[in-house]
Amino acid sequence: MSDLRELYQQVILDHHKKPRNFHRMEKASHSAQGFNPLCGDKISLYVLIEDGVIKNAAFQGSGCAISTASASMMTESLKGKTLSQAEVLFRQFHDLVTGRSDNDPVALGKLGVFAGVREFPLRVKCATLAWHTLAAALQGRTETVATE
Ligand code: ZN
Repeated sequence: MSDLRELYQQVILDHHKKPRNFHRMEKASHSAQGFNPLCGDKISLYVLIEDGVIKNAAFQGSGCAISTASASMMTESLKGKTLSQAEVLFRQFHDLVTGRSDNDPVALGKLGVFAGVREFPLRVKCATLAWHTLAAALQGRTETVATE
């Protein structure tokens, strides 16, 4: 288990140092801003949706390793998903990091690396910020979303 935890940490640090899809998207169909006041994480999220499918996702922002890695991996995993698939993924991810379900983290693929976050309740908001911002973008909310 400690080997697995170490691997998870490496994946998170890798995404923190080299975030994927880290850029503005001029042609985004949806976008939103998110802010986690507990940690100071900020994110601008951009998605391009065509025919109910997420064609592209990108983000910019500044924050801790967990929030950056979470946004990086979220944008990677959203591409090609339908909106309902994205919603299911959000629920599963939320359950994973809050420890509300004992689903096998492996079932979430790469996103399973965030399973360890449940041991650090303050970090849950870091991990879910990008996802809450996604929900706001899809609902067309323009004010900055704050993770209470
Ligand atoms: Zn954070």
